[in-house]
Amino acid sequence: MNIDKLIRNNIKALKAYSSARDEFTGQAEVYLDANENPFNAPYNRYPDPLQWDLKKKIASLKDVAPEKIFLGNGSDEPIDIIFRAFCEPGVDNMVTIDPTYGMYQVAADINNVEVRKVKLNEDFGFSAQKLLDTSNLYTKVIFVCSPNNPTANLLDKAEIVKLLMGFDGLVVVDEAYIDFSPEHSMLPELDKYENLVILQTLSKAWGMAGIRLGMAFAQPEIIRIFNKIKYPYNINMLTQQKAMELLENLQEKEEWVKTIVDERAKMVKKLFSLPFVQVIYPSDANFILVKMHDARCIYEHLTEYGIIVRDRSKIALCDDCLRITIGSPTENKKLRKALKELI
Ligand SMILES: *Cc1c(COP(=O)(O)O)cnc(C)c1O
Repeated sequence: MNIDKLIRNNIKALKAYSSARDEFTGQAEVYLDANENPFNAPYNRYPDPLQWDLKKKIASLKDVAPEKIFLGNGSDEPIDIIFRAFCEPGVDNMVTIDPTYGMYQVAADINNVEVRKVKLNEDFGFSAQKLLDTSNLYTKVIFVCSPNNPTANLLDKAEIVKLLMGFDGLVVVDEAYIDFSPEHSMLPELDKYENLVILQTLSKAWGMAGIRLGMAFAQPEIIRIFNKIKYPYNINMLTQQKAMELLENLQEKEEWVKTIVDERAKMVKKLFSLPFVQVIYPSDANFILVKMHDARCIYEHLTEYGIIVRDRSKIALCDDCLRITIGSPTENKKLRKALKELI
């Protein structure tokens, strides 16, 4: 991969905004450099633009160097930045699987970047060769998601490796649901593949969707490009502090994951006995995709009970499918009770 050839010319030439907090990073007694209000501490101060304390904490949790971490306002931010950094609007394209997470397409559309979709197989597996065959000289990035949303399955690691080896642009692997799966993250392989970008998030297993913190892991040259483009203070002080605090709860996170995975097994077993349930696809995530007789009608019925699931029946390969998040044991019981009323 040649990063200089991959990056858009205007981004290569860009002189990034330099904030007061970028220019002076040591400890001073008096800060009169950023036109801040001297009152209302600590909220009067701009936050660390590169979030070093938080990155160091994540670095030690994940065993990755802090220079290989980018933090964003949710995963949405690195997804958008990848297009802005590498894809020339109206010229370049990206390749992804179908169905998958909707944000890749939305971010590409906003940036006027063509999306080339390759349908998954009937078993929701994918072929690296098909994705490579769909790419051309203008393909700058391939997005895959493992475990995939909304199909819930892990993608074959050997196929992902074929992408990394066979493609000279970026390969983004979205691991938002990796904690719920039996597979390991690809993070330990970051140094093996210079074109690998891994996305993770605090929104799912860590239970912090409300504070908006997404992570991208890649080689420092790629992270430096992301940093050049991002808003100077993209992660606010409250999010940085709260994430530092809540990342201490590693054990609690693992207990939540275990409970959710146990509840997932229970849900699969119980839903399977319902006559209108046709297929429950195997799940490596914190949700299940269920094919049902007249999914739309079941969706409407559940809303009458105040239970909202995701109707995915209009999505490729998901005819008559509902996507159901695994909730707390009590919430899951309520769902099953409401479904039984339909028999
Ligand atoms: C939920 C989800 C995310 C997380 O998005 P955030 O913006 O970090 O909340 C990322 N990727 C996929 C595939 C998801 O389903």
